[in-house]
Amino acid sequence: MNSFFKVDETIARASQKAMEAASASFAQIDAVRAYNQEKVLAAFVKNSVNESHFTESTGYGYGDRGRDVLDQVLSDSLGAEDSLIRHSMTCGTHTLGIALFGMLRPGDTMLCVTGTPYDTIHSVIGLTGSGMGSLKDFGVTYKQVDLLLDGKVDYEGIEKALEEKIAMVYIQRSRGYSLRPSLGVDDIEKIAQVVKNKSDAVIMVDNCYGEFVERTEPVSHGADIIAGSLIKNPGGGIAKCGGYISGRADLVEKCAYRMTVPGLGREVGPSLGQIRSMFMGLFNAPHIVGEALKTAVFAASLFEQLGYDTTPKSNEKRADIIQALKLRNPETLIAFCQGMQKGAPIDSNVSPEPWDMPGYDSQVIMSAGAFTGGSSIELSSDAPLREPFAVWMQGSLNFDSGKIGVMLAAQEIYRRGLLG
Ligand SMILES: *Cc1c(COP(=O)(O)O)cnc(C)c1O
Repeated sequence: MNSFFKVDETIARASQKAMEAASASFAQIDAVRAYNQEKVLAAFVKNSVNESHFTESTGYGYGDRGRDVLDQVLSDSLGAEDSLIRHSMTCGTHTLGIALFGMLRPGDTMLCVTGTPYDTIHSVIGLTGSGMGSLKDFGVTYKQVDLLLDGKVDYEGIEKALEEKIAMVYIQRSRGYSLRPSLGVDDIEKIAQVVKNKSDAVIMVDNCYGEFVERTEPVSHGADIIAGSLIKNPGGGIAKCGGYISGRADLVEKCAYRMTVPGLGREVGPSLGQIRSMFMGLFNAPHIVGEALKTAVFAASLFEQLGYDTTPKSNEKRADIIQALKLRNPETLIAFCQGMQKGAPIDSNVSPEPWDMPGYDSQVIMSAGAFTGGSSIELSSDAPLREPFAVWMQGSLNFDSGKIGVMLAAQEIYRRGLLG
């Protein structure tokens, strides 16, 4: 580091070592990034994206060329038959909800095969809350196959669950905010093989945080439909909001009828001037995901140097951009988040504090300093103040600044005498 930020010699030396230890992982990230960037560029070229596609449509948005071309560019970028990418799908949960309601019908059973899904999906399914019009309220049954104790997929359990009639098998690719490993596309392919041997269930993947981390997406490995958020990987830090659904054309059409209404589907929806930032974000996404991955690997490597346990390890294969660090006590979690905030481009002057976040059974502390509200492709961290006292961090639009954020987090832990 130069003289703009101050870190102690202990942190500077550990960071130096962390960079050396991470070099092989960085090379792998660069290779995947270059591959995915070529793939996305080719999708832009194939579909002859023009400046005229950025023109804003208003009102009904009938015949918005840019919107339709962007759907196709996304499909080609992800290896999917068809896609919907819209700023009007407000977040990941909304997008996943549209897909679930679009494809499931009363009397159907949805089977989640990766344990309890991401927290915000619980009320969509109807596991929590009532009277809000959840899938459960509409007569959709939910079943679940838990992960094995080591966090691996229970293939035998899945086979057994498929003895009943299942309409949809649901897979969450990312670890989310748990300590289980994330699923690679190879794991998803294995699940798909087991499912397709026994059933004609639709295979849906919550692809949040997974886009462009590997060379291919789950739709090339047996998944029928995937969905995710544009303030994570595929928005490239540029899209201001939104979500996408990609996969089999017949299923995407069903989702379109839920996204708006039966009959109108994808024919309506004005782009309201958001389309250029969605094009630009998608174009940059492979690069930005590479920066976020390097920041995650550096964080793992630095905290390994400092004697902490990390998941995944700095040299482990990754299927999402999330890094968990086990910091062992609440004081260290607080120091980490407050230190990281000091290196955020936005809101560096505020200091995060633990608070009673609705829906959590313990206090939570978060750091975030983002150009886009709540964006987690930008450097951010979250830590519930409970066992195992882990912080989950992700993002960074560029590695050089993400690295400083991570170093300042370590520096704050050191300064407070908490290291070790
Ligand atoms: C982020 C995320 C979601 C959706 O969350 P939003 O905050 O609504 O965008 C769903 N599943 C996983 C695994 C996620 O990481």
